[in-house]
Parts: sequence; C-alpha cells; structure tokens
Amino acid sequence: MADEKPLHVRVAEALGLPTEPSQHAWDEAAEGYRACTRCNQSAGWNSPEPEWCASRYDTDWSATGPLIERLRIALTPIPYGGRILWRAHPHDFGDKTYLDVQHYTPLEAVCLAILALADAGRLPK
Ligand SMILES: [Zn+2]
Repeated sequence: MADEKPLHVRVAEALGLPTEPSQHAWDEAAEGYRACTRCNQSAGWNSPEPEWCASRYDTDWSATGPLIERLRIALTPIPYGGRILWRAHPHDFGDKTYLDVQHYTPLEAVCLAILALADAGRLPK
C-alpha cells in the first residue's frame, strides 16, 4: 500500500510531532484565501482547513537543519549519471547498523533517512 501522505508529514509523524489542523500558521495577508507558512497549503476563507500541518522538512533548511545536527546525519554528494545524488546517513549509533539513503535533494534524502531510522526503531527520542 502506498502511503499517500506527503514526505514532510510522514517525517513529522515519525518524530512524534503534532500534525493537527490547529498547527496551521495562517498568513492572512492574502486576499480571498489564506496560506499556511508552515506547511505551504492554502484554503479559502470559507473552506475547511487542510487536515494536517507540518513543517516542510523536504524543502525548508531552517526546519530540517536542527534535525540533521541532532541526529548527526552526514550528507555526501555522489555523481550519478551526470547528476548529483545526495547520500544521507546517520553517524555514531554505536554498532554496525548502516542506514544509507540517497535522493536527488539533500533534504529529501534526510527525510528518507529519518523514516528509515524510525522503521528500524532507531530514532532517538
Ligand atoms: Zn499548515
């Protein structure tokens, strides 16, 4: 079964962070609609709020940078067929566990590494 939730929402859930609609940070400057400065979703004034909210860990360095530091995730650019892949892997887990995730952007690679850590039961609380 494919998980339909966006990558940054799955990361927030893996980290145990709230993703409720009440977490939206509406920018009310726009006319005719409101836009959330955390999750980048928008809604009309009379339409219901999107059902989840989470920082854009897949695109926002200010949200993901502290996670990279806390989880000690190394990022390495790897030439791949004329492009660059980014390898993300966590350091210093004290055994030979090796998690190595690659993706086309550094932040998406970090997100996938966090999900892999959670799947492996190795996400520090
Ligand atoms: Zn939001």
